[in-house]
Amino acid sequence: MQDASLSTAPTHATPLLGIDLGTTNSLIAVWQDGEARLIANALGEVLTPSVVSVDDDGSILVGQAARARLTTHPQRSAAAFKRFMGSDKRYALGEHRFTPEELSALVLGSLKQDAEAYLGCPVSEAVISVPAYFSDEQRKRTVFAAELAGLKVQRLINEPTAAAMAYGLHEQKFERTLVFDLGGGTFDVTVLEYALPLIEVHASTGDNYLGGEDFTEALLQACLRDWNLKAEDLEPQALASLHDAIEQLKCEVGEGSRTFAWSMDGQPREWQLDEQKLQAIWAPLLARVRTPIEQALRDARLSPRELDSLVLVGGATRMPQVQQLVAKLFGRLPYRHLDPDTIVALGAASQAACKARDEAIDELILTDVCPYTLGVASSRGEDVTGAFSPIIERNTIIPTSKVQRFYSSHPEQKFVRIAVYQGERPWVRDNILVDSFEIPLQSTGEIQSLDVRFSYDINGLLEVDVTFLESGQKHSHSIDRSPTGLDAQARQASEERLAKLKIHPRDTLPNRTLLARLERAWMQSLGDERELIGNWLDAFNAVLAGQQASEISRERQALSQALDELRY
Ligand code: AMP
Repeated sequence: MQDASLSTAPTHATPLLGIDLGTTNSLIAVWQDGEARLIANALGEVLTPSVVSVDDDGSILVGQAARARLTTHPQRSAAAFKRFMGSDKRYALGEHRFTPEELSALVLGSLKQDAEAYLGCPVSEAVISVPAYFSDEQRKRTVFAAELAGLKVQRLINEPTAAAMAYGLHEQKFERTLVFDLGGGTFDVTVLEYALPLIEVHASTGDNYLGGEDFTEALLQACLRDWNLKAEDLEPQALASLHDAIEQLKCEVGEGSRTFAWSMDGQPREWQLDEQKLQAIWAPLLARVRTPIEQALRDARLSPRELDSLVLVGGATRMPQVQQLVAKLFGRLPYRHLDPDTIVALGAASQAACKARDEAIDELILTDVCPYTLGVASSRGEDVTGAFSPIIERNTIIPTSKVQRFYSSHPEQKFVRIAVYQGERPWVRDNILVDSFEIPLQSTGEIQSLDVRFSYDINGLLEVDVTFLESGQKHSHSIDRSPTGLDAQARQASEERLAKLKIHPRDTLPNRTLLARLERAWMQSLGDERELIGNWLDAFNAVLAGQQASEISRERQALSQALDELRY
């Protein structure tokens, strides 16, 4: 007999998933049994490096194995592509060419597979986090990347807001909080207020081009300068290897002095570093951290003293220099007991549960803001053109809909051009063009008035409606509502390109990853250590040839641990 009774607790037909698609690492979490849980990848790790590599047999590798190949095969591998979402940049990896969103789709596809393996069912939708300061275009490209990976985006959530959500679930005592989120490629500052069940975002600011990768790059450039070398002088492999070593140095150097040793073409080199030198190298980057903080506080009409707490999110907040700066700016130590690497994914899964009105969470209500001013190009009289007329001001609570009245410039005008910009500068030439379109005008022999309405939704996507008052003519322009902002042809081309790819089988990924790590370690080592690693490589290949699953697994674990100990 069929059960026709009503249930008070919703059963979720589809799993409630949250994804942190990071510049450096990506994570996926699921809401299960009243809490957000991280899902491990095929290697048993929750952090999947956002790196893609084309293997020697042409198959696609994502994650740890691809990260190792970034050093050994830099021309077949790509990282940090999130920084170029929405740009025209193309990546040539071996015989393939990719857009940043296609590479992101491969990372999302890999996370989707991990979730499917863990849950034992197909996965088709998720909440995905994006930097708060991501533009409309970058958001659309993220939605597009998800679609290419076969995932419907239930909602885009701003990363610091996701972190705040996870904190809100754990700690219900905060009131006014500033979330300082310095990831691999982006920096976001968000001021919010917990008045549970409400989490209200008051201001979000940031810098889309500031993150841990820039600190690595600054260190690399300083090192090359001191060695009288230029990046172009190095072979791609040597440069990738040096970058890798400098990245490790950045994570280990802390506040102490250090001698960095590296060898190129058999020639050993040394680089002396101390705290003073580090401060000098990073001073320009650290200075860039201040402006968004000051702006966020000003927009939220708060002084640093009025904040009840300070939360650090993102891997780069592990840097002592960043922590010191934050402590100095706010006159207190930040609160950081949740893991800054995983908190965004957990918050995104919590948001998925909110959307699905899961019992354990449906009380929490989240409001967010539009982080930048959106407006149109306008003219004042005939002489002053290219002025920026704001319609939605930055840090307006979303969803929002605002309207402004404009006029045609002269009675015989044949069309009006609506050019949408985002930014904070008085002239459009200094702001970012979001989109522009033309509307034909029916000539009336008079100046015509038009209302331009901007509607900004919870995902941070914009819609423009234009109404001509005299004629009643209406024109709706969803700054391309085909959620990607890409024409159908470009979309189809991406789909076809990805469909043809051979993805490396998930079950053999642990072995492939160890081989890639061994090859990288061999390349980076010298002398006795190199010989030892060469022996391990041979031994592991021999065990693989034997095809004994238990023996392969035992050897893999032992060698992975040995590589960890040698810090490769
Ligand atoms: P996320 O995007 O949040 O995963 O942050 C990644 C960034 O954090 C990368 O630039 C890493 O180099 C950086 N990072 C991670 N751990 C550390 C550490 N211990 N010290 C310095 N930077 C780190």
